[in-house]
Amino acid sequence: MKALLFWAALFGAVFCEETFVGDQVLRIRASTDEQIQQLLSLESLQLDYWKAPRSVDSPVDVRVPFPSVQNVKAFLEHNGIEYEIMIDDLQTLLDEEKEEISFSQTLESRSGTFNFGTYHTLDNIYKAIEGLTAAYSGLITRQQIGTSYEGRPLYVLKFSTGGSNRPAIWLDAGIHSREWVTQATALWTVNQLASQYKRDASITSLLDQMDVYILIVTNPDGYVYTHTDNRMWRKTRSKKSGSLCVGADPNRNWDAGFGGPGTSANPCSDTYHGPSAESEVEVKSVANFIRNHGNFKAFLTIHSYSQLLMYPFGYKCTNPADKTELDAVAKSAANAITSLYGTKYTVGTICTTIYQASGGSIDWSYDYGIKYSFAFELRDTGRYGFVLPASQIIPTAEETWLGLKKIFEHVRDNPY
Ligand SMILES: [Zn+2]
Repeated sequence: MKALLFWAALFGAVFCEETFVGDQVLRIRASTDEQIQQLLSLESLQLDYWKAPRSVDSPVDVRVPFPSVQNVKAFLEHNGIEYEIMIDDLQTLLDEEKEEISFSQTLESRSGTFNFGTYHTLDNIYKAIEGLTAAYSGLITRQQIGTSYEGRPLYVLKFSTGGSNRPAIWLDAGIHSREWVTQATALWTVNQLASQYKRDASITSLLDQMDVYILIVTNPDGYVYTHTDNRMWRKTRSKKSGSLCVGADPNRNWDAGFGGPGTSANPCSDTYHGPSAESEVEVKSVANFIRNHGNFKAFLTIHSYSQLLMYPFGYKCTNPADKTELDAVAKSAANAITSLYGTKYTVGTICTTIYQASGGSIDWSYDYGIKYSFAFELRDTGRYGFVLPASQIIPTAEETWLGLKKIFEHVRDNPY
C-alpha cells in the first residue's frame, strides 16, 4: 500500500502537467476546395485546431504535436498547400507565461494589491470577486447560479441599484477554458463597471435603469485544468459512460440546432456536442438562470481569439430578423474598439464570419427572445493565439470596454 502511494505521488508530481515541447502552431492557407478537403482529412490525426478549416479565404491555425510536425509539413508540401509557422515552440511561450505569473504573484503579495494585468488561478479570481463584492457592497451582489460538474460554484456578479427584476444584460466569459484573456477581461470589466457608476454619465444612467449580470468563469473545471494539467484544455470536465475521453464543448451544447453542422459526435473531439442539449451542468445552470429571470434584453459572451464581433446565426446560414439593427450596433461597437489602439475587428453573423457552428449560446439566447445577442472574439489574430501575453490583458480589456459600452447604450436606449 505504502509503495503504491509512493508511486502514485511520484507519477502525480512528475507526469501531471502536459507539456508542449516542440509543438508548433502552423497557419495554413488552402487555396482551393480540394486543399480544404485535404486539410479536413488531417482531422483524423486529432490535431488541435485553433482555427478550424472552413473556406479558401480564411487561414487555418493548428497546433501540431512535436512527433507529427515533420509528417504534417511533408503532407502540406506534397499537396502544395502554403503554410507558415506562427509559434515555433509552444512550450517556450508557456514557460514565459508561467514565469510572468509567478513574478506578478510575488509583487502582488508584497504590495498587497490585486493586479488585473496578469493571469490568475480560479482561487484568486474568486478571492477578487469577494473583494469587489465587499468594496461595492451597495452595487454588487454575488449569486451562485449552479455548481460545476466537479463541484465548483458558478458565481454571477449582479449589478443593481434597486428595483425588482429590472431589464437586464448578461455577460459571460471563459466558457472555453483556454481562452485566458476572456476571464481576465471580464474581471477587469467588473471592476470598471463598478468604479464608473456615479462617475461616468452613460454607465450611471445604464445602472439606474437596468441590471447587469457578469459570469467571469463559465467553465471553472476547465479553467482549473488549464492551470494544473493542460493549458490547451477547451471543454468541460464531465465524464461520459462508454468513453474514456472527458468533457464536451460547452459552446456546442446549447439547445439551438443541437448536434448540427460544426459539431462532433465523437467524445474525444474538441467540438464534441455532448450527449444531449444542456447535458453540461454549466450550460444548463446559465440557461435555467436566464429562463427563470425572464427579463434579459442582451446576452453577450466573450471568447478569444480572432478579433470578431458576431451575432446570430451559427447553426444556420440565414440572417436573423433583426440583422440590420444588430449589424449596425456591432459595427459601432467594433469602431469604438478600434478607436483606442487601432485593433481591427470583423463584424457579421457567426456563419459568415467564422463557419457554421451549432449549439452556440447566442443562437440559443436569440431564439429564446433576447434580441441583443452578441459574441466577441478578443485579441489577437493568431500571433500568440490562446497564449496572449499578460502585457496585453489591460489594453484588451480597455478597448473591449468601449465596445461593450456602445452595446450597453443601445440596449438602454432601445427598450423592447
Ligand atoms: Zn471560444
